[in-house]
Amino acid sequence: MACEVHDSWDREHLWHPYTSTIDPLPTYKVERADGCVLTLADGRRLIDGMSSWWCTIHGYNHPRLNAAATDQLGRMSHVMFGGLTHEPAIALGKLLLEMAPPSMHNIFYADSGSVAVEVAMKMAVQAAIAASGDHSRSNFATIRSGYHGDTWNAMSVCDPVTGMHGAFGPALPVRYFVPQPRSRFDAAAFDPADIEPVERLFEAHAPELAAFILEPIVQGAGGMWMYHPEYLRRLRALCDRYGVLLIFDEIATGFWRTGRRFAWEWAGVEPDIMCVGKGLTGGYLTMSAVLTTRDVADTISRGEAGVMMHGPTFMANPLACAIACESLRLLAGQDMAACIARLESRIRAGLEPARGLDAVADVRVLGTIGVVEMRRPVDVGEFQRRCVDAGVWIRPFGRNVYIMPPYIITDEQLDYLCHALVELVCDL
Ligand SMILES: *Cc1c(COP(=O)(O)O)cnc(C)c1O
Repeated sequence: MACEVHDSWDREHLWHPYTSTIDPLPTYKVERADGCVLTLADGRRLIDGMSSWWCTIHGYNHPRLNAAATDQLGRMSHVMFGGLTHEPAIALGKLLLEMAPPSMHNIFYADSGSVAVEVAMKMAVQAAIAASGDHSRSNFATIRSGYHGDTWNAMSVCDPVTGMHGAFGPALPVRYFVPQPRSRFDAAAFDPADIEPVERLFEAHAPELAAFILEPIVQGAGGMWMYHPEYLRRLRALCDRYGVLLIFDEIATGFWRTGRRFAWEWAGVEPDIMCVGKGLTGGYLTMSAVLTTRDVADTISRGEAGVMMHGPTFMANPLACAIACESLRLLAGQDMAACIARLESRIRAGLEPARGLDAVADVRVLGTIGVVEMRRPVDVGEFQRRCVDAGVWIRPFGRNVYIMPPYIITDEQLDYLCHALVELVCDL
């Protein structure tokens, strides 16, 4: 073999996410990626079912995104945002506000999804303290099974069981958790019992809360669960009644992943603060944004500090902004609702055969997210070895084997991917 597909230097020295240095999970060396296909160092080609963790929505090595990057490189790849501005940041802001909830007015660019969540939480605390004059209004509530990232505050609102509360224990701030809403996204009726824990929580603790944070409609890495839109409508009403800000983390659900531009549209309720990331740059560079209302922004500015207290070095990186603009133009130039609907019905049909299997607890699909929930946890290393043998790239998490492919996946590739997934779970 000309190239090792498992690099021994890598194995010895490089940390990969969530794996041991003593007994690491295997990693596969990728030589290049085009469209929906990853080419390994040994020449094997894999159909990508993961969009590199939700982000490469237009596929890899896209000519228009490449051109946008090259064009911007020739001008400047970076310039500080303190006291300077540039066209890519302005153009991106305009494109984002065109597609965001109508009440969104101010944009804070940040480095990654986790940092966006940190910024959103800081915004909420600054706004809540400025509005109430009360420093005790600084805690957060969320639903179980959420995922919001790996930095300190983001971790604190991740699911306390599947998240990292165990590993960090008392080092993490203590948040309020209510049960995950159990009414399914597509259930005919919403069960009002789902929202009752929020009512009880607010009755007892609203004066301590700056905000309620959650992923609208689809909970991603924390459980791959899709819940009923009515939950968000009831939650919005309670937040209004008790003066608690509402933060939507749309980092995974944004940019058409669920079949709408953003998942809030399924419920028709707008947040006070919204985080976007992942697909923002089409998966080319790390970048995120926090959007908020004029009211929240101005409240912060009238507060004690008088400014939003955050300012990352790479804020509004021009290269990332230029690529993000092109990514959003690609979305705007197509009938995305029809595109996602077509992919959704193919994923539904493709994963349906898994439903009858003994080892399978549930199959659920929304937009381009297809989930096969197993009855028992899946061994990631072993499963991925079999995926690679089958010519597909899927990374299960816990009991969930799921796909969220790039939107440019062909019907043929998608059928192959779904078929391979079903065959693989047949053997579990
Ligand atoms: C991935 C993710 C994050 C964290 O984003 P990073 O870019 O990995 O820091 C936050 N929230 C949600 C919903 C996510 O899916």
